[in-house]
Amino acid sequence: MIECIFTIDYEIYGNGYGSLGELVYEPAERLKAIFSKWNARFVTFVEVAELEMIEAKGTDSDIDLVKDQIQKFFKEGFELGLHLHPQWYNAGYENSKWHLDYSEYNLCTLPEERIAQIVERSIAYLRNILGESDFTPLSFRAGNWLFQPTQSLANVLSEQGIKVDSSVFKGGMQHQHKLDYRPALRNGYYWRFSTDTNVPDSKGILLELPIHTQMIPAWKMLTAKRVNIQRKGSFTTQNGKTRTGQNKLYRLMDFMRLQYPLKLDFCRMTINELTCMMDIIIRADHENPTSFRPIIAIGHTKDLVDFETVESFLSYLEQKRIAVSTFEGIYDKCVNAHC
Ligand SMILES: [Zn+2]
Repeated sequence: MIECIFTIDYEIYGNGYGSLGELVYEPAERLKAIFSKWNARFVTFVEVAELEMIEAKGTDSDIDLVKDQIQKFFKEGFELGLHLHPQWYNAGYENSKWHLDYSEYNLCTLPEERIAQIVERSIAYLRNILGESDFTPLSFRAGNWLFQPTQSLANVLSEQGIKVDSSVFKGGMQHQHKLDYRPALRNGYYWRFSTDTNVPDSKGILLELPIHTQMIPAWKMLTAKRVNIQRKGSFTTQNGKTRTGQNKLYRLMDFMRLQYPLKLDFCRMTINELTCMMDIIIRADHENPTSFRPIIAIGHTKDLVDFETVESFLSYLEQKRIAVSTFEGIYDKCVNAHC
């Protein structure tokens, strides 16, 4: 059985560029209207650090609209997940520009006490937005998908009551951050883990529900749609300026692979790519209908411009009788399956 979970990272560009109205509020509002029409729900991965800092420094008047929207998502069953880009917390704002603290870019490499401070602070801010002092998100997604090295962050999340991670994309590799999700290609549709996201552990403290990927020849990544969206965000390098020679080299090394993991991305893929990827999963399901196949799709509010494709994809899923769910909707099924 297949169920599809749509997740959307709710954030502006990773270096502080862009406005909340254009890159977050408006696209999320339109997406919510579409899903409501189809009586479906998605998971909103709220990037909490930037919202707290934007509010504290008073840099974007649409912060109130955004907080209001998050409350409405919560009330109407659009699950809220925790997404964190920790480089925001020590950020400064000068001459109309954010200066982020890239020494804290990868949460996993910080001391465990610092990780705990950041996670606690982010959950407290979400509770404050919702006016719910006991709210704890079920799920987490790391900024730039960085959940390695795994152990400290996994400990902290579990201690804080988070149960699901959705940072892994099988086959993923980033030389610059020493990220390597290639070993996860051997894993199933979901698994428990503790010390390494790649390594299934039946007694693991978190449940991994990875973003669905398919390994494809690298040149196939270059569709017009993806290249255009990529170009739009291409100034969002870590130093906020143009890419440095070393950054370019790292990116080139990431791409110099025969096979590349294409994420199931409903903002960047064409309808043909989306349905072809699902068709492969449907064929596997026909061959072995007893296993449970939660399929996690990803999108970003800042990439969301093609709403027609989203509608067509929802229509395709309905036609194929594939339910659209949330992590809350499938969690028990995964746990009861003794993954
Ligand atoms: Zn993000």
